[in-house]
Amino acid sequence: MDHLRYKKVDLHMHSLASDGVFAPAVLMQRAYENGVEVVALTDHDSLNGLDEARCEAVKLGMKFINGVELSVQWMGVPIHLVTLGFDMDNDAVNTVVNANQQVRIERGKTIAALLMKQGLPDIYEEALEEAGISQLGRPHFAKVLVKKGLVKDMNKAFDKHLNNKHLGGKLRQVWPELSDVVHQLNSSDVYTIVAHPKRYPLTVTKLKRMLTDFKVAGGKGIEVVSGNEKPDSVRLLERLSREYEFAASVGSDFHGPFGPWTEIGKYTPIHESEVSPIWYRWFA
Ligand code: AMP
Ligand code: MN
Ligand code: MN
Ligand code: MN
Repeated sequence: MDHLRYKKVDLHMHSLASDGVFAPAVLMQRAYENGVEVVALTDHDSLNGLDEARCEAVKLGMKFINGVELSVQWMGVPIHLVTLGFDMDNDAVNTVVNANQQVRIERGKTIAALLMKQGLPDIYEEALEEAGISQLGRPHFAKVLVKKGLVKDMNKAFDKHLNNKHLGGKLRQVWPELSDVVHQLNSSDVYTIVAHPKRYPLTVTKLKRMLTDFKVAGGKGIEVVSGNEKPDSVRLLERLSREYEFAASVGSDFHGPFGPWTEIGKYTPIHESEVSPIWYRWFA
């Protein structure tokens, strides 16, 4: 296991431009302090943090890759695509991001209405305010519920009110189809990667079906590790990346100091020599 090498790469993290807690520059300083050398910022459906992050990362001597974590769906299941390596003026990426931002606004209204059906007050406006410059999502509704004292913490907000179970599965159908998005992005030098493949409600058989569709559409890689993944999962994902000839990506999915993700630059070890690391495309 070649520790020294992979430890310096982190291609999945969030800033204030989506649901992370740090400004993009602060996030890059943290990455640098953790010894990261190759870094990507991948906010949910937003490119807004990239200029600030790139500027800081380059100043600190890190290699920076433009990134975004796009929300799509496959067979009605929400899937996240970490998308890397595009130029800021890439038409296809901007088109998909803009469309998803519209979806997030409409989806926010649905979330607010569904929370009211659970007997909670209408918190749409407050959630929008909470989101500020970032893309509206369930974490913002969760924060408002915590602030209002309606739940103890973010975890409880998700557990009691914001899981798909509570929202009646009504949030599943809103995102664009995985294949359509991958097709759209495939026209240029954009690298689409299935984020945290083991975190979806899919059996291994269904997961493989999804990966097949992703491959056929032109998908280029999968994350072989996301944060604190179990070593068994990482081995399975490494195998799948070889089987499908997918490039391998790695990341913490860091959002802030507290949560289910890991610290920037830290994640379950991978067998780097047994996969085809995606960052070699830019920085060997
Ligand atoms: P959305 O983008 O609206 O679907 O919200 C999903 C986001 O909620 C994920 O990206 C996570 O960052 C966050 N999230 C999910 N579960 C939890 C939890 N239990 N506590 C805090 N944040 C969570
Ligand atoms: Mn998130
Ligand atoms: Mn994700
Ligand atoms: Mn993420």
